[in-house]
Amino acid sequence: MKKINIAIDGHSSCGKSTIARSLAKKLSYLYVDSGAMYRAVTYYALQHKLIANERVNKLELLHHLPEIHISFKRVDGNQHAVLNGVDVEFEIRSPKVSEYVSLIAKIPEIRAHLVKLQQELGKTKGVVMDGRDIGTVVFPSAEVKFYVTADVEVRAKRRYEEMLAKAYENISYEEIKQNIEERDFLDSHREVSPLEQANDAILIDTSNLSPDAQLKIAYEAVEAKLKALNQ
Ligand code: C5P
Repeated sequence: MKKINIAIDGHSSCGKSTIARSLAKKLSYLYVDSGAMYRAVTYYALQHKLIANERVNKLELLHHLPEIHISFKRVDGNQHAVLNGVDVEFEIRSPKVSEYVSLIAKIPEIRAHLVKLQQELGKTKGVVMDGRDIGTVVFPSAEVKFYVTADVEVRAKRRYEEMLAKAYENISYEEIKQNIEERDFLDSHREVSPLEQANDAILIDTSNLSPDAQLKIAYEAVEAKLKALNQ
């Protein structure tokens, strides 16, 4: 059976990673969370004090870029981000990283570096990747593309419950909602590779859909594509 690449883009906390993970599992494809890569670079920058007073020390960070090695490993069936050999899955989801990640993600040189890594992972096909620019920049010729969104209130509520379940403390619903709105704005308005729906992407609004219903829509589209390609 011919393998394809599947691109899933969309707003923060819209459920795209749940769809991506479930699709990858069902198809036995590799799931790649591209947001985790931007988060890992942000965590590195914070650790090395390259972000101060809301500003990124861009020159110094770019100087460090060759020393930032990001990979993934499986832990209890879940994918964890690894930064320079250390599992940083918990750290990269922290409110602090969420606060600064869009500042890091708008730096063209950082994007170019990570896009190259992402394209390398998709070379042999069989990849489901989620992010903001996967269908438009990373895999413009991905065989199936989705653009996922949901009402901001719904996304903030889901994110808040997720953060509580993962034991991130001292975070309020309001703060989460504000962070989501800020990232939506920055990600959609940056100069390089802003978040936008690819012309050929299928829109999924998850506001009123259960995870099963979301997966069903996505899987049926993928199945139809695979069937057409394998005829
Ligand atoms: O997907 P997640 O919300 O974890 O992504 C964190 C941030 O990384 C986004 O808000 C965005 O700034 C950046 N990002 C990006 N391009 C991608 C994936 C994520 O700019 N392909």
